[in-house]
Amino acid sequence: MNYTDLYIDGVWKSGTENKRFDVINPADETVITSVASASVDDAKAAINAAQNAFADWAGRTPRERSIVLRKAFDLMMERLDDFAKLIILENGKAYPDAIGEATYAAEFFRWFSEEAVRSDGMITHAPASGARIVVQHKPAGIAVLITPWNYPAAMGTRKIAPALAAGCPVIIKPASETPLTMLALMPLLEEAGVPKGLVNVLPSSQSSAIVDTMLSDSRVRVVSFTGSTEVGRKLLHSAADQVLKPAMELGGNAPLLVLEDANIDTAVQGTMLAKMRNLGEACTAANRIYVHKNIVDEFTKKLTLEMKNLKVGNGFDPDVQIGPLINENTRNKVAGFVVDAISKGAILHTGGKVPEGKGYYYPPTVLSDVPKNSNCVHDEIFGPVAAIQTFENLEAVIKDANDTEYGLVAYVFTENMKLGMSVCERLEYGMVGLNRGLVSDPAAPFGGCKQSGLGREGGHEGMLEFTETQYISAEW
Ligand code: NAD
Repeated sequence: MNYTDLYIDGVWKSGTENKRFDVINPADETVITSVASASVDDAKAAINAAQNAFADWAGRTPRERSIVLRKAFDLMMERLDDFAKLIILENGKAYPDAIGEATYAAEFFRWFSEEAVRSDGMITHAPASGARIVVQHKPAGIAVLITPWNYPAAMGTRKIAPALAAGCPVIIKPASETPLTMLALMPLLEEAGVPKGLVNVLPSSQSSAIVDTMLSDSRVRVVSFTGSTEVGRKLLHSAADQVLKPAMELGGNAPLLVLEDANIDTAVQGTMLAKMRNLGEACTAANRIYVHKNIVDEFTKKLTLEMKNLKVGNGFDPDVQIGPLINENTRNKVAGFVVDAISKGAILHTGGKVPEGKGYYYPPTVLSDVPKNSNCVHDEIFGPVAAIQTFENLEAVIKDANDTEYGLVAYVFTENMKLGMSVCERLEYGMVGLNRGLVSDPAAPFGGCKQSGLGREGGHEGMLEFTETQYISAEW
């Protein structure tokens, strides 16, 4: 736990107000350590540092930026285990999820080291005048990055890597529940060759004040946020004053459709992945599971068996697959969803009971016959609860699947590819998994439509979020 201060201009600082806040281990509710809390003045200092680093970094060749990012990937791959352990400590997730996250996080450095040298522009003749239309992408400027607690490493690297590839300096405000992983990444980035001031980290117990300060500074040009739709909306309002480029990765309410002809074993395995990766604390987690009436009994039986077999416990135990939830509030919310659904007529197949003792544990839970008016149908569960509904009519289930303000990800299971593709195309979602329970991939554009967000991370699109398109009309 060596890195618990603010990281500004390549220097560790205790902050102008000398305030700290505790980071809690969700597995036993003990205080892991305390972390410096950034003030408004610290936020201003970080902007100055970022501005000073900007010209040099933006002026480096794409290849130079690429080499630094590639080195960051290599170093992170060497230290995956250290990062996984830190993620377990502050977030609670089990080792397989933690090592999976650390690897996924590192992959963004590799992917964007490759993208850094592929910032394609365009040159063409204007149809009427014959002048040349020259189009190029320039670094947008300082980017403020705000990340959630559910992926303490990956949600940060998914923003840092494309920003650096594009030539932008960044200031990261990690979630107050999990600031340690992002702080621990800083020495690695220094070693990779990231110059001082280019990446700054500001944990803070006064998120709103420091973020507002940064978003109202005219030198900041991008705000990239991952978190709840509620906070995203507030940030969009703040971003409006300086007309910042917003990238918003917000909440989800993913439907998962198991059609009548689906291979049930494939669908059960896919559902396990879509529901239980990160113990359900994922924006991509399957929230509403719709299964055709002719197969729902067999599907529910098999899914229940798989859920019962999961071992719950401290994430450091190598046999454990399900760690604790992040905090008491989250657990109360999850438990409340289950009580609400059962009170409205849902059937409980396994789980559903808060265990005694320390740690914010909640057991893998399966509910079937979940009524449409249950709270878990409308809100993100964000926990290990599989909520199954039965359907008969394909048209009606597509309508139900789309009947939400969210549009992040959906899943479809069927053996009929023609039908499957047409259902995917009719789902109003930024991403769809077809016979797969996992869509996240650094090489693919991750993001949602409707109130699940704006913009995309990863893929070719990810770097464009940190650039401005410039068009030069030229004669020569
Ligand atoms: P959150 O919105 O409460 O917090 C996210 C971040 O915003 C944290 O760093 C927090 O400190 C900060 N924050 C909170 N209030 C703020 C304010 N007023 N001003 C500035 N910053 C503020 O979300 P969370 O509870 O950390 O994460 C869970 C949510 O994140 C879920 O809704 C989940 O779906 C979403 N999420 C989305 C994606 C995606 O890619 N779409 C990925 C992971 C998580």
